[in-house]
Amino acid sequence: MIPFNKPYLTGKETKYIETAVATGKISGNGVFTQKCQQFFEDTYGFKKALLTTSCTDALEMCAILADINSGDEVIVPSYTFVSSALAFVRQNANIIFADSYTDNPNIDADKIESLITDKTKAIVIVHYAGIACDMEKILEIAEKHNLIIIEDAAQAIDSYYIFKDGTKKALGSIGHLGAFSFHETKNIISGEGGMLTINDERFINRAEIIWEKGTNRSMFFRGEINKYGWVDTGSSFLPSEIISAFLWAQLENIHPIQEKRLKIWNKYHDELKNNENIDLPVIPEYATNNAHMFYIICKDLKHRTELIKKLKEHNILAVFHYLSLHKSEFYASRHVHGELTNSDHFEDCLLRLPLFYELTEAEQQSIIEVINNF
Ligand SMILES: *Cc1c(COP(=O)(O)O)cnc(C)c1O
Repeated sequence: MIPFNKPYLTGKETKYIETAVATGKISGNGVFTQKCQQFFEDTYGFKKALLTTSCTDALEMCAILADINSGDEVIVPSYTFVSSALAFVRQNANIIFADSYTDNPNIDADKIESLITDKTKAIVIVHYAGIACDMEKILEIAEKHNLIIIEDAAQAIDSYYIFKDGTKKALGSIGHLGAFSFHETKNIISGEGGMLTINDERFINRAEIIWEKGTNRSMFFRGEINKYGWVDTGSSFLPSEIISAFLWAQLENIHPIQEKRLKIWNKYHDELKNNENIDLPVIPEYATNNAHMFYIICKDLKHRTELIKKLKEHNILAVFHYLSLHKSEFYASRHVHGELTNSDHFEDCLLRLPLFYELTEAEQQSIIEVINNF
């Protein structure tokens, strides 16, 4: 069986975990956590990076930092993972779901403005498959209406937005706040894990407090205050050093990991691009590709169901992705949304192919052949 995903281990993970254990400091915010955070800040230009136990947690921190309260509206694409909306629902926000582009699952920036009301407080954007949303348009809208931009960059490590003047900025470093995932299905992993990125300095102090159960413990450990106590809301959002040690082993290998994934992505693209039965991912001029995912777009649900079946007959596991959140059992009754036809189209037609570090060329060739012969 060719699995859909296989978590890649660099070989150093358990060694660094042993190091962490041997130091006797295995709770959070120790040496490995700080090394990882420093790496992210230095490499990608985040003003502040805080590791969390998941991307969902990082999004919950975003919802608290953005001061989302009962009755506030938050705009979220419908074609995304539950957490992009859930984190804001927990702060009692009303979620206003937005549609995707026709040829790209990302939020259609031209449709955002019509969803804004005087209750709108934030826009959550998702860089689907690690491909940037149209950030220049979104920044302009947010500035005009004084909204907070939260980047769900769960899939977007090591990917960039290219501004019209040619400058490049890492995804997760452009909005006010960003959230990454190191879940085992992502490019860089720690089992479960995540990161909050903060690009607007006014959120940094409060983020550290929320991260540490509402206490000013981080300031205490830096010697900035002489005792710490309960000063705000928060939770236990920081991971243990065992998780951070694992993550550090991955970060040391981020370049070979990314190179290998890109090679696989490019082979899929080259060998499927002449197949007239399917559409391939579109990478806009303003976006780079971090090879998080390779997906194809089938003609309709029936076509996709049959292709999944055919691949399974050849022992290949390909999987579809999100179900439109505006139609979900949990949310459909809470707020009536209009038709979001592009989101529904991706729900029915998008199919993800196996893409992982250890996928062999022969395995990939067999996947390509099944699709091209179908
Ligand atoms: C994976 C993912 C998440 C959730 O990440 P966790 O670390 O599992 O909480 C959220 N949003 C998107 C877009 C994702 O792909």
